[in-house]
Amino acid sequence: MSAAADNASGGKDFIRARIDEQIRNGFDPSTLQTRFPPEPNGYLHIGHAKSICLNFGLAEEYGGRCNLRFDDTNPVKESSEYVKAIMEDVRWLGFSWGDRLFYTSDYFEVLYEAAEKLILDGKAYVDSQTQEEIRLSRGTLTEAGRESPYRGRSARENLDLFRRMRAGEFQDGAHVLRAKIDMASPNIIMRDPVLYRIRHVPHHRSGDRWVIYPMYDYSHCISDANERVTHSLCTLEFENNREIYDWLLENLGLFPSRQTEFARLNLSGTVLSKRKLIQLVSEGHVSGWDDPRLPTLRGLRRRGYTPEAIRDFCSRIGMARADSRVEYSLLEFCIREHLNRVAPRLMAVLHPLKVTIENYPEGLVEWFDLPLYPERAAGGSRRTPFSRELFIEREDFMESPPAKFFRLAPGREVRLRYAYYITCVRVIRDAGGQVSELVCVYDPESRGGEAPDGRKVRSTLHWVSAPHCAKAEVRLYDRLFTLDDPDDVPEGKTFLDAINPDSLKALEAALEPALAEYGADSRVQFERLGYFCVDKDSAPGRPVFNRIVELRDSWARIAGRQS
Ligand code: ATP
Ligand code: MG
Repeated sequence: MSAAADNASGGKDFIRARIDEQIRNGFDPSTLQTRFPPEPNGYLHIGHAKSICLNFGLAEEYGGRCNLRFDDTNPVKESSEYVKAIMEDVRWLGFSWGDRLFYTSDYFEVLYEAAEKLILDGKAYVDSQTQEEIRLSRGTLTEAGRESPYRGRSARENLDLFRRMRAGEFQDGAHVLRAKIDMASPNIIMRDPVLYRIRHVPHHRSGDRWVIYPMYDYSHCISDANERVTHSLCTLEFENNREIYDWLLENLGLFPSRQTEFARLNLSGTVLSKRKLIQLVSEGHVSGWDDPRLPTLRGLRRRGYTPEAIRDFCSRIGMARADSRVEYSLLEFCIREHLNRVAPRLMAVLHPLKVTIENYPEGLVEWFDLPLYPERAAGGSRRTPFSRELFIEREDFMESPPAKFFRLAPGREVRLRYAYYITCVRVIRDAGGQVSELVCVYDPESRGGEAPDGRKVRSTLHWVSAPHCAKAEVRLYDRLFTLDDPDDVPEGKTFLDAINPDSLKALEAALEPALAEYGADSRVQFERLGYFCVDKDSAPGRPVFNRIVELRDSWARIAGRQS
C-alpha cells in the first residue's frame, strides 16, 4: 500500500509538505486556490473521490478555496446529464463549492482571444495538413518531427484563416490551429501541439455558437490562470503536459498557476477508467451507473457505502508520487469502521432452516425489548417476537459436525441470542432426504440467554420468529472481476473476459419484523452476517437489501473461522 510512501515529512504527504514550505517562503495560504475539473462525459468513481478529497480538502485545511470546474471542451461526449450527476455526487461526498462553479465553455471567448494573441505574436499558426499528416510528421522519441509546410504562414494569413475557422467556413478537419514551438523538442507534446480543431457539433451549453473547440492542453492552463488557481493538481499521466502548461501561461503573460502531479488511484479487482465503466454500463454487463458492484460513487452509495467511509479511505491511501494499486479490502475496512459505530444491529436469516420448539407453549408469543446498539448504553430498542416456530441459519446446523463445529447438532445445546438455550432432539427430512426442519426443546429457565445454573454453551445463534418474519430479497455481491488487475488478461482477451459470472446472488431471506420498517438507504447490521443497506428497489411489504460487506474480511473469516 502506498499510504506511508510519501509521508516522510511530519506525517504529511508531498503536496502538503510542499505547500508548507511555500508558506515558510512567504506564500499566503488564504490565497490557496485549487479546483476539481471533471469532464462531464461519465459518472464519478472512487478515483475521482481521491482528487475531490485532495482539492477540497486542501482548501479547507489551509483556509483557501476550491472551484468546481466542468472541463467541457469536447461536445461529442459530454452532456448536462453528467453535469447534474457530478454535482450531486460531489455534494453527497460532503464538499461544497459555494458560488465557485465554473465551466471551461464559459471561457470560450477568452480562450479564443488568447489564441489570436498567440497568432499575432507569431506563436501560433493555422495548419492545413490532414490529421494523419500531422500525426506522421510528429516524429518519435528518437527522431525529431518535421515542420509543417504551412508553418511559415504570416500572422495576417493565420489570423484571417483562424477567424474564418470560427465563422464556420470550413469543414471538420480542414485546418487546425497549432502552437509554434519546436518540432525537434525532446518532449513530443511540445512539437507544435494542436490548440484548436474544427467540430461542427453543438455543445451542451454553448449550443451552436462555436464550431471550433480548444484542446485540453490549451484550455486547461488558461482556465486555471483565469481562476487564479495556485495549485493545479492532476494525475501522473499529465507529467509531460506540464511543459506546454507553463509555456502557454508564460507566453500569454497570464497568472502563474502551477501544476503538480500525484498518483492516480488504482483499486484491486476493479476498473477505474471511464471508457471501461461506460462499456460495462452500455453493454449491459451491469444494471446501470449505480449498480452496487461498480466503483462509481453512485454504485458505492447504492451498495450502502457512506461518504464518511469514502473520505476516510481517501485519507488513508495518502498521496504517492508513484502509481500503485490499493487493495479493495481497505475500502471494506473503512466502511466496517464507520458502520460498526453507527449501524443498528438486528436479526435476519439468509438461508432459513425451520426450528420447532416442541415444549414451547403453542400460541404463546413473547415480545423481547432488544437494544439496537448492544455495545452502547443508549440508542433505543426494538420489539422482537419469539415463538414456537423459528428460523435459524441453515449453516448453523450440522448433522455430523466435525471437531471444530460448535454450533447446533443433534443432541447439542446452544444459545439463541437474547432468548433461550435450545437443544436439538430430532431432525426432519423432506422427500429428497434433505434436512427440512429441526425439532428442539428449550430451557424455560434460560430466558434472556443465560442459564441460572451457569452452564455454558459454545455458541450463540441468531434467529427470527417464523410466523412473524418479513420476507425480503437480499442481494449478495462478490467482486465484479476475478482478477486483481482486470486488464491482466491473456492475448486476445479483454477486461470483459475477467468479469465474475457469480458477482450477484439474490436470496429470499427472513427478517425480524422491525427490519421491514427501515426505508431506502438505511444501513443496518444483520447480527453475525454483515452490514446491509435498503435498496431503492424496495416496495411496501417487499424490502430489498444489499449486502455492503461481511463483518470480517473473507480471508480472515476463512483463516480464523470460529463458530
Ligand atoms: P478519462 O479517463 O476520460 O481521462 P478521467 O478519469 O481523467 O477521464 P476527468 O473527468 O478528467 O476523468 O477527471 C477529473 C479529475 O479527477 C482529474 O483531475 C483527474 O486527474 C482526477 N482523476 C480521475 N481519475 C482518477 C484516479 N483514478 N485517481 C485519482 N484522480 C483521478
Ligand atoms: Mg481526464
